[in-house]
Amino acid sequence: MAYVTRIVIIGGGPGGYEAALVAADLGAEVTVVDRDGLGGAAVLTDCVPSKTLIATAEVMTSFDSSYEELGIKVAADAPTSGARVVGVDLGKVNRRVKRLAVAQSHDITQSVTRAGVTLLRGFGRLAPGGQAVDGSRGVVVDLAEGGVGAEGGEGGGTRELRADVVLIATGTRPRELPDAVPDGERILNWTQVYDLDELPEELIVVGSGVTGAEFAGAYQALGSRVTLVSSRDRVLPGEDPDAATVLEDVFRRRGMNVMSRSRAESVQRVGDKVEVTLSDGRVITGSHCLMAVGSIPNTGGMGLEEAGVRLTEGGQVKVDRVSRTSAPGVYAAGDVTGVFMLASVAAMQGRIAMYHALGDAVQPLNLKTVASNVFTDPEIATVGYSAADVECGKMDAVCVKLPLRGNPRAKMQGIRDGFVKLFCRPGTGIVVGGVVVAPRASELIHPISLAVDNNLTVEQVASAFTVYPSVSGSIAEAARQLHIRKRAAGGAAAGA
Ligand SMILES: Cc1cc2nc3c(=O)[nH]c(=O)nc-3n(C[C@H](O)[C@H](O)[C@H](O)COP(=O)(O)OP(=O)(O)OC[C@H]3O[C@@H](n4cnc5c(N)ncnc54)[C@H](O)[C@@H]3O)c2cc1C
Repeated sequence: MAYVTRIVIIGGGPGGYEAALVAADLGAEVTVVDRDGLGGAAVLTDCVPSKTLIATAEVMTSFDSSYEELGIKVAADAPTSGARVVGVDLGKVNRRVKRLAVAQSHDITQSVTRAGVTLLRGFGRLAPGGQAVDGSRGVVVDLAEGGVGAEGGEGGGTRELRADVVLIATGTRPRELPDAVPDGERILNWTQVYDLDELPEELIVVGSGVTGAEFAGAYQALGSRVTLVSSRDRVLPGEDPDAATVLEDVFRRRGMNVMSRSRAESVQRVGDKVEVTLSDGRVITGSHCLMAVGSIPNTGGMGLEEAGVRLTEGGQVKVDRVSRTSAPGVYAAGDVTGVFMLASVAAMQGRIAMYHALGDAVQPLNLKTVASNVFTDPEIATVGYSAADVECGKMDAVCVKLPLRGNPRAKMQGIRDGFVKLFCRPGTGIVVGGVVVAPRASELIHPISLAVDNNLTVEQVASAFTVYPSVSGSIAEAARQLHIRKRAAGGAAAGA
C-alpha cells in the first residue's frame, strides 16, 4: 500500500486553508485545527469585514466628492446627514458585513471539506516529546465545546493526532496597550467595530499605519468626525512618501484632524466619552476610540520553542523562503511568521510549504513581486522595489511620476488626487516597481505587477494598447516617458 503523508495544519486562515487544499490535492491525509472558524481572522474579523465596510464608505465618498462637479442634483427633500447629502445606517451596514463574513467562512469550509480534509474545532499545540523514531510528531487538540468538525457535534476534551508534517498558521491578534484596554463599547479594536449600531460621532483612531488609515478614512466617509493620532511625521510611514502625502492632504481637506508626532499614552472611558492622553500631556476627547497599534503573533501556549521552533524577539515564527521552521517537519505560514502581513502572502507561504513538504516543484517566496493595496480613498497600490529601496541604494532605478490631473479619464470622472509612478533599471529599462494612487488602484496595479513578475521592459509596457480614455493609459505613458529618458541618457553617454 502506498504511504500517505499525514499533515496537521494548526490555523484555518488563508495560510492554513490554502495549504490544506494543495496538500489534499497532492494526496496527503490532511487535518485542519482551528479555534474560530475557517477563513481565520482574514475572513471573520480583519480583511473581509473591513473591505465590506469600506465598500459602503467608498460609494459615499465617491458620490459626496463629485456629484456637484458632475452636475448631479440632489432632490430638495432628500434626507441629509448634517451637511452631507447622503447618510448611513451603520447597524444595517454591520449586519451585512457580518453576514458576508460568515457566508465566506461557510463557502471555504465547504470547499475544504469537499477536498477530503478533516476539520477539528479547537486549540492546537505541539505535544511534548519532539519527533518519534519514524519522524512523526504529536499534535494535541483541546477540542472546543460542541465543536468536532466543521458543523459542531460532540466536543470538549482533547484529542492527539500524529503528523509527518505540521504547519503552524495561527495568525495574529490586535496588540493592546496596558493603559488603553478595549471595552468593546467605546474603546475598540478593529475586530469589535462591527458590533456598533450607531455611527460614532467623534472617532479617535490611534495608529496611522494601514489599518488605522483605512478605518479613519472609512469612518470619515460614513459621516463621523475623525481624529487620527499618528506617532510619526506623516500617516502610512511604511508606504511611498509621495502617496502618503497625497492621502494625508486628502484626509485634511475632507476635515480630518490628523495629529502628527503625537503618541497616545492612555485611553480612558469617562461616561459616554473617551479621553485619549498623549505623551506630551494633551488630552483629546471623542465619543469612541479605535486602537490600531499593530498586532502580536498567536504563538503562546503551543509548545513551539520546546519543540525546537525558533521565534523572533517579537514572538514570530522564523521561517526560510520555503516556509521551513528550525524544527524538522514543522513549517509555518502567514502573519505568525511576520514576513509580509497579507492574506495573499499567507496563502502563498502555505502552498509553498506543502509543495516543499510533499516533494512537488516549488518556487521559493519572492517578496519583490508582491502587490499590496491600502484601501483608502484614493487607494494606494504598490508592487516591487520602492522609492526607499532606490534611495538606500538597494536598487539602481530611475523613476517617472505622472499626476492623474493630466489624465483625460480622470478629468472626466472628477478625479483630482493621485498619480502613477514607475521604476525601471537605467540600462535595460526592465520595470522593477510601481505605485498607483487612484480610486480602484488595487485593480490598476496588475499590469505593473505583470511587468515586474516577467521582467518586462518599459518598451514592452509602452507598446501594449490601453483603452482611450482610461486611467491605465497613464501607466503606458509613464513607461513611454521612461523610454525617452533612457534613450536620452544612452545618447548622452554615447556622445560623452
Ligand atoms: C483590519 C485588517 C484588514 C486587513 N485587510 C487586508 C486586505 O485587504 N488584504 C490582505 O491581503 N490582507 C489584509 N489584512 C491582513 C490579513 O488579514 C492577514 O494577512 C491574514 O489574515 C493572514 O492569514 P493567516 O492565515 O496567517 O492568519 P489568520 O487569518 O489570522 O488565521 C489564523 C487562524 O488560526 C486560528 N488559531 C490561532 N491559534 C490557534 C491554535 N493554537 N489552534 C487553533 N487555531 C488557532 C485563529 O483563530 C484564526 O482562525 C488585514 C488585516 C487587518 C488587521
